[in-house]
Amino acid sequence: MIQFNAGRNWIYAKRVEGRFQRLHRASGFVLLAILAVAPWLSVGGQPVLRADLPARRLFLLGTVFTPSDGFNLVLLGLIAAFALFFFTSLLGRLWCGWFCPQTVFLEEFVRRIELWVEGDRRVRMQRDAGPMSFDKAWRKGVKWSLFAALAVLVAMAVMSFFSGPRELWTGEGGLVEYTMVGLISLGLFLDWAWFREQLCIYLCPYARFQGALTDDHSLVVSYDVAHGEPRGKGRAAAQEGHCIQCNKCVDVCPQGIDIRDGFQLECINCSRCIDACEDVMAHLGKPSLIRYSTVAEDEGRRTRWIRGRTISYSALLLGLSGLLVYRVVTHNPIEVTVNRAPGTLFQQDADGSVRNTYLVHIKNNDAVEAHDYALSVVGLDEAEVIVSDLSLEPLAAQTVPLIVRLPPGAVDRTTPFTVQIVNETHQRTVDATFKAPHRAQEEG
Ligand code: SF4
Ligand code: SF4
Repeated sequence: MIQFNAGRNWIYAKRVEGRFQRLHRASGFVLLAILAVAPWLSVGGQPVLRADLPARRLFLLGTVFTPSDGFNLVLLGLIAAFALFFFTSLLGRLWCGWFCPQTVFLEEFVRRIELWVEGDRRVRMQRDAGPMSFDKAWRKGVKWSLFAALAVLVAMAVMSFFSGPRELWTGEGGLVEYTMVGLISLGLFLDWAWFREQLCIYLCPYARFQGALTDDHSLVVSYDVAHGEPRGKGRAAAQEGHCIQCNKCVDVCPQGIDIRDGFQLECINCSRCIDACEDVMAHLGKPSLIRYSTVAEDEGRRTRWIRGRTISYSALLLGLSGLLVYRVVTHNPIEVTVNRAPGTLFQQDADGSVRNTYLVHIKNNDAVEAHDYALSVVGLDEAEVIVSDLSLEPLAAQTVPLIVRLPPGAVDRTTPFTVQIVNETHQRTVDATFKAPHRAQEEG
């Protein structure tokens, strides 16, 4: 017999309504709209956000990052990490409860579909505990079919950030793209149908280290022990401790924990238990026993929002962001290296003039436009320069020979000069040296 909860302490989170659930619905709608719409948006003719992996380009809000922007990408990664550290130290697991795709998909798709197709907690528990029946089979079939359809849609939306939405949604994407859609869909389906809260508890690295990022002054979802305890059953017992042991905060928890046991790593700060308790306590004319609070506040101390870790995280965040903005604004898309051509340092012509030959490697790091490049030499007044100008497509590179020729005796031994490369928008200079024989040697 098929056992739908075999080998797994299946969590049947009860439906809950309240002010935080309304906020979740609104924020979830905005986040899902961003997922669906953002791949189609562009700034200055470029995608707002796209990682074009085959071409090794990252488009972000009108800026194009290429492999030569490796340092900028590291800065971006550090900014994202310190932003997470900063907000976690202030607001606890705000990300987990409100913005993590896992939470948003489970709240907005999975639990809604489950409620619609299989009913609320008690009905689902009873049906799953019973033997296989037509009623159970068709409901599971419909639920999993809807999960699978939504998983494909989400996977297509995710892959649109990598390969471009138009090609993907019109069937013109490549085999690799559709294979990735298949793999992502499969992963989402298994997560929604089976894995769920175990991903937060056993797999998510952020859940592991967020304990180190928070302290007594970080916002958490907590139970008001002072007003809640000692617990009693029914309204009469609520004269002492306010908690009436209705267990609603436990029934609605998607992580399967009891927040009254204190801070637990499994808690994703989703606030479902707050709404549940607010509803119960409203009927008793009392404030909710579960709320957003800090350990300091719970212990009667003042919460300090400005403290060592928030100051250092915000300083690092500002410094790194400033550095990234500076590097993007001053970004020079001309990449040049100048090397002496292999062979002799210099060559002497029949008339005694001296020639140096260089290989100039130019790369157009502009990921969008082709450019024309003009090369010249600065610092060698009498030099005859033999070089051809060139055009380069976006991200293309080319090596061209550069010959510098000086009349006899114009310079002695090693003379520094500059190679200048100019296109319509930028210029770059590279230092080089001209080698000539020693004058005394030449005269002798
Ligand atoms: S304890 Fe409350 S806030 Fe934490 S995961 Fe459970 S329902 Fe969400
Ligand atoms: S919902 Fe509130 S009253 Fe009910 S058990 Fe939880 S903390 Fe106690």
